[in-house]
Amino acid sequence: MYVIFLGAPGAGKGTQAAVVAKEMKLEHVASGDLFRQALDKGTELGKLAKSYMEKGQLVPDEITIRMVLDKISTLGKQTGIILDGFPRTLAQAEALDKALVKQEKAIDKVAYIKVGEKELLKRLSGRWICRNCQAPYHIIDSPPKVKGKCDACGGELYQRADDTVETAKKRLEVYFAQTAPLIDYYKKAGKLLEINGEGKIDEISSRIVTALKAGHS
Ligand code: AMP
Repeated sequence: MYVIFLGAPGAGKGTQAAVVAKEMKLEHVASGDLFRQALDKGTELGKLAKSYMEKGQLVPDEITIRMVLDKISTLGKQTGIILDGFPRTLAQAEALDKALVKQEKAIDKVAYIKVGEKELLKRLSGRWICRNCQAPYHIIDSPPKVKGKCDACGGELYQRADDTVETAKKRLEVYFAQTAPLIDYYKKAGKLLEINGEGKIDEISSRIVTALKAGHS
């Protein structure tokens, strides 16, 4: 099964993709994580991506498409995948479709996680993440038991450089201009599952799993 998790920054794609991937035995491929790993390692890719990420802009299509398709090609043909954060532009969606056709594969379903704009901004600007296991926390909604430490693994919590209020606003703008058109693209292809992304984490995960198994939302 090849699935895309689509939604605005802060909609919970990463959190949900991790939970659903575990439950449905799928590989979680997150373009943002691939960029952050490259950045941590100080590779050419990381250096290229850095300035775009810091400004809340998209990394150019050519670089992003190559990175994600390379990653997919390292996974076995039988491996099911959840793509999280990719595609984010029509050009990326088209390049993905084309690459999959060559492997006689296709995207099966797109889970569109829908969250209101006010809620998105609130979530993005209060988010802290574990440096070690990537578990997300929120200063108001889900604070850690010990300030600055991950409940799950004791790792150090940090705020992503692009999770400040200003950058969060920019990322939402970019999402509405460049990524939201993908909702229509996948709706027309008959692949879109619309999921209510507000509520408790486990409630949302079970909505997604149920919709994916049934093939409709
Ligand atoms: P994310 O962790 O998905 O919110 O991504 C963090 C940042 O990485 C984004 O704000 C972009 O700068 C970059 N990025 C991640 N995925 C993509 C993509 N599919 N296309 C372009 N840039 C991306």
